Formats: sequence, C-alpha cells, structure tokens
Amino acid sequence: MAGLLLPAHMSAHPGAPGGLGRRTCRQCRHHGVEGSDVVCRRYPPQVTVVLVPQGAPRVGQLAPQPFATFPPVVPEHVCGEFAPGGEGR
Ligand code: SF4
Repeated sequence: MAGLLLPAHMSAHPGAPGGLGRRTCRQCRHHGVEGSDVVCRRYPPQVTVVLVPQGAPRVGQLAPQPFATFPPVVPEHVCGEFAPGGEGR
C-alpha cells in the first residue's frame, strides 16, 4: 500500500514510544505469508469476480471467474483486530 503515511506518534518501530510498534500485523497471530505477500487471515478470504475472455468456440465472450484471496497487508500497519502471538512477539 504505497502512499499510506502513518502519523509520527504511530511509528511502527518496535521500541517506539506508546507501544503501537508492538501491535502491528507482523506481531499479530492472524497474519500469514503467501509468497512475497503478507496477508491477513483474521476473516475468511474475500471473493473477487473477474470477467475472463473465453477460447474457442466462445471467442469474444467473457465468463465470470471467481478468485478468493486473503487481503494483503503491510507488516508495519496497526489494526484494531490485533491479537498477540505472531512473529516478533
Ligand atoms: S493486525 Fe489486523 S490486519 Fe494485521 S494481521 Fe492482525 S487482524 Fe489482520
């Protein structure tokens, strides 16, 4: 999520004043790693439907294709659903 700026008082560094750095996705037991992505598994996957071009004999037509994915998160983000138990506790 490029472009998201956290206020300075919500610094994500582990030793930051206020302790918010100890309540980020990286330290949350709900986070997961999928390939190079960090995802949130707090809730079921989100379903997105994409219209996919079809091959012969339906060339020129689109068919709905569902994809289920857990939402990607930034490890340093802070969330109200945080639960301790993840990496870096
Ligand atoms: S802090 Fe929130 S968004 Fe991040 S992994 Fe935990 S529940 Fe998900």
